[in-house]
Amino acid sequence: MTLARTWSVGLAGVSGALVEVEVDMSAGVPGVALVGLPDAVVRQSVDRVRAAVVNTGASWPMRRITIGLSPASMPKQGSGFDLALAAAVLAAAGTVPSDAADGLVLLGELGLDGSVRPVRGVLPAVLAASRAGHRTVVVPEGNADEAALVEAVEVLAARSLGDLVAHLSGRARLAPHVRGPLPAPGPVPDLGDVVGQVAGRRAVEVAAAGGHHLFLTGPPGAGKTMLAERLPGLLPVLDERAALEVTAIHSVAGTLPPGSPLVSRPPFEAPHHTATMAALVGGGSGAIRPGSLCRAHRGVLFLDEAPEFPRATLDTLRQPLERGSVTISRAAGSATFPCRAQLVLAANPCPCASAAGDAACTCSPLERRRYQARLSGPLLDRIDLRVELPPVGRAAWLGGGVAPESTATVAARVAVARQAAAARLRGTGLLLNSQVPGRLLRERWAVPRPALALAERALDRGMLSVRGLDRVLRVAWTLSDLAGRTVPGPDEVAEALGMRLQRVAA
Ligand SMILES: [Zn+2]
Repeated sequence: MTLARTWSVGLAGVSGALVEVEVDMSAGVPGVALVGLPDAVVRQSVDRVRAAVVNTGASWPMRRITIGLSPASMPKQGSGFDLALAAAVLAAAGTVPSDAADGLVLLGELGLDGSVRPVRGVLPAVLAASRAGHRTVVVPEGNADEAALVEAVEVLAARSLGDLVAHLSGRARLAPHVRGPLPAPGPVPDLGDVVGQVAGRRAVEVAAAGGHHLFLTGPPGAGKTMLAERLPGLLPVLDERAALEVTAIHSVAGTLPPGSPLVSRPPFEAPHHTATMAALVGGGSGAIRPGSLCRAHRGVLFLDEAPEFPRATLDTLRQPLERGSVTISRAAGSATFPCRAQLVLAANPCPCASAAGDAACTCSPLERRRYQARLSGPLLDRIDLRVELPPVGRAAWLGGGVAPESTATVAARVAVARQAAAARLRGTGLLLNSQVPGRLLRERWAVPRPALALAERALDRGMLSVRGLDRVLRVAWTLSDLAGRTVPGPDEVAEALGMRLQRVAA
């Protein structure tokens, strides 16, 4: 037999497509020709595969070897094709039975010594293999738990090319990998740790219940980061579909925590303001990797010191956040990742960032205005909740009042409010108040006129735009769901208005 075939998977973003690896051997000058749009890394793959084959004790065929990767039109990136290439070469050379590898999907990078190394993106690759009707995949041992998240696929874990050769030649079969029970979601930072900050605690609860974007301002030490970190814990644990979706992104990004193959809690991503556009949104040379925005899918994207981010960077986030997906294009191809994340921005009230708050501020009014203006614009306009945190006072530290509520208590309330919203929105394809379009808010779920008096006055005085009013109404519905009411009353509208205008109203 001089022709052999195996399968692997190429990824564009988180969607995988089966790649057929064909190897043909013919007489002629010994050498290797690779056809089918492989990138530089795949081309180097031939050298790795040759070294791995020789160091495994097999001989490298001294023939004219042609390796085809198809479909030819699809760009193939990364080192995950090594194992499939090696198996196809060995089958074509007759080192293993030629039909032993037929139909098998193989993923993994080879070390020069023949070891099989873990690769990124195994979960989406195995999902693609399963969808295409393949029943058996061979993956690196380090990726086996991740691969075994996909039901209905037999996972064989290979530590070395020697393991694979023994398996294919029938000398020592690889046993199907049995995944241990998934670890329970780990503990989250507790809301009960946040001292004082009644308004801040309320804001994260409302943000969690309605899926609203949140903007926190306050002096350093007021607890902006603490509050933001506690938002994911208030969101429901991801269901199976959502967890697989989020895990696939982290698999491609290479950020899956070792030992826990499944991301089952809403993720929290906090990029620094010096992060590049590629780090924030996605990109990189070679295989396109998702950035913080996509890794925060179904979780929280936290931008601390938001005015320090370049304006262009912040504006880039707007469309993806609205669409729920981002497409990154490179010369080698493009990739689309989902990014339905909840945004939390935090800012100091002014550039001097005095911990004592306004009293000790040394900035001129102009400096303060300029600093705050850095955040104005299209992105800020999409934020429903804006809350100003006061400096944490002595009284709050000494704990004069009641003990703050824990994450478990607040999360239970959030879950009830989310159910109420989902029940009301049934049939619209929407789940959260933050997603309801303005038209539906006014036509289908109009808030009774008397409850709106305060908002109408703000509108008349030019303190609120029409779009701003829509945002107030969305938050009012969330407050109403949290209060167990069927429709927002004057209290809910007043509180929502206060969270939109900060100190102006309420
Ligand atoms: Zn200042």
